[in-house]
Amino acid sequence: MDRTDISKYYDEISQCNRCGFCQVACPIFRSTGHEAGVARGRLALLRAIIEGRLEWNQEVEEPLFDCLLCGACTANCFAAIPTSDLVIKARAQYLEKVGRKSIHRLLFDQLLPYPRRLHLAARAVALGKNTGITDLARALGLLKIFGRDFVHANEIVERFPTQAFRDQIKTGVHQGQGQSLRIGYFIGCGVDIITQDAGHATLRLLKKIGKTVNVLENCCCGLPAWSYGDLKAARKLAARNLSILVSEKFDVIVTDCSSCASFLKNYPQLFPEADKHHEKSQAVSARVKDMVQLIHTMQAYAPSSDSAVTVTYHHPCHATRGQGLAKEPDEILNRLPGVEYRPLLEADWCCGGAGSYGFSHYELSQQVLDRKMDNLKKTGANLLVTSCPACIMHLSYGVRKHGLNTKVCHISELVI
Ligand code: SF4
Ligand code: SF4
Repeated sequence: MDRTDISKYYDEISQCNRCGFCQVACPIFRSTGHEAGVARGRLALLRAIIEGRLEWNQEVEEPLFDCLLCGACTANCFAAIPTSDLVIKARAQYLEKVGRKSIHRLLFDQLLPYPRRLHLAARAVALGKNTGITDLARALGLLKIFGRDFVHANEIVERFPTQAFRDQIKTGVHQGQGQSLRIGYFIGCGVDIITQDAGHATLRLLKKIGKTVNVLENCCCGLPAWSYGDLKAARKLAARNLSILVSEKFDVIVTDCSSCASFLKNYPQLFPEADKHHEKSQAVSARVKDMVQLIHTMQAYAPSSDSAVTVTYHHPCHATRGQGLAKEPDEILNRLPGVEYRPLLEADWCCGGAGSYGFSHYELSQQVLDRKMDNLKKTGANLLVTSCPACIMHLSYGVRKHGLNTKVCHISELVI
């Protein structure tokens, strides 16, 4: 695979006419007011690097890595400049120049490709967290996974289950009540080790919809590595998954993580046409469905057990801008019996979680989260629903931090 060269994208980067329309949509700019934090500033930085006016050194690290990759700027830009994609390419080149951090080598090369190892690491972190012996996990170096702001990461994740979701359910094929649909269930790392209630609800729903549900032995989809700029590690993870996902034993591949769904659908962009994985990645991505899409096709929903439930919805970046799933959640919520749906202002703005962004850029992520919480308060809803484990984790932290009496859950948990 060729080394990354951001100068190949010079024409695209130069399309920025400095109009500034991206400012209004950028959660980081709206929080800080700093030009370096908005698409226009980031593109100017890349242009300066390409033109040799700036060096690839640690000074450019912060402007490259404090982008949420939420994509809101592109949606507000007449030229539709894909700033988040360009930032990822620039991160890749930066890492090639300065080297990867050892913790990312451990995470992307040694843990994420192997679910069993990830489970062991998560268990060690859970034991440390749940018993207060965080020093043990810290001594093992495991907590560095959560970035430089670990102290806050410890607050953000309220509780780590000690047993992985995969270890609580039967792997392999489950019989369902559906007529003919054969489903492959892709369990993302977030559901596997943190938001397990979502996983249990999804599996029950899938068994209602599908004739069979095949719990897949997949590893991490590769999105964390890709976002970090470690494109090689991301491709390795994707190639590992492709060998499983290409099976003819299921008609659709469903995941209840909108970030995984978005990235799985994008697998073909990881492998150029000449690559041996390209065709396979196209066949696989065409069969991927976000759980929201599957729920949207359901003919009838069970009435809510609580007739007084008022619900609002947070649209994850990887669902709206990543997959174009904007109207589906609204339509589901409007059809759900016993639910009063109260739309959230700026519902598709990033919550600040952005994968592990809350762990690596705590202060900035909190400013973005506070804005989301202010909008949540205006709805008066007692349930905040979404479709991405990282959002669930971050929004749950926001609700606790702001002392709100709102429960955060996955849409599968509401619909089941
Ligand atoms: S909206 Fe697009 S063209 Fe305008 S300043 Fe932002 S990135 Fe540049
Ligand atoms: S991707 Fe999001 S955080 Fe990054 S520049 Fe665009 S709007 Fe701002």
